Amino acid sequence: MSKREYLLRLYLLQDLDLLLQQVKDPAYTEKTGLTISEERIKELEDKRNSLALELRKADPITYQRYEFLKRRYGRGITRVVDRMCTNCFAALPASVMRTNDEVITCPNCGIILIWLD
Ligand SMILES: [Zn+2]
Repeated sequence: MSKREYLLRLYLLQDLDLLLQQVKDPAYTEKTGLTISEERIKELEDKRNSLALELRKADPITYQRYEFLKRRYGRGITRVVDRMCTNCFAALPASVMRTNDEVITCPNCGIILIWLD
């Protein structure tokens, strides 16, 4: 798996993490009027857990970093938009360059960066 593929899968994992967090929040279900069955949540959790296992095996250091950042910021990976980190909103210096074979982190807040456009 290339680093680019890895980061895309990590981004998907985060999406599942945020989704699960949302559907388990009573304020969200009350506000939206949606009821999500326990069975569906369990399916999503199973998918999340097998993806997490795969990513932990493929690159334990980046995975641990993701979990650490998630505890700290609520997310471990974020998009770069117009050369800006969308976690801390700092402009990225010219030395931070888009690449497909390295994991790049924000020099200001440390979050893992992904370019999606
Ligand atoms: Zn940042």
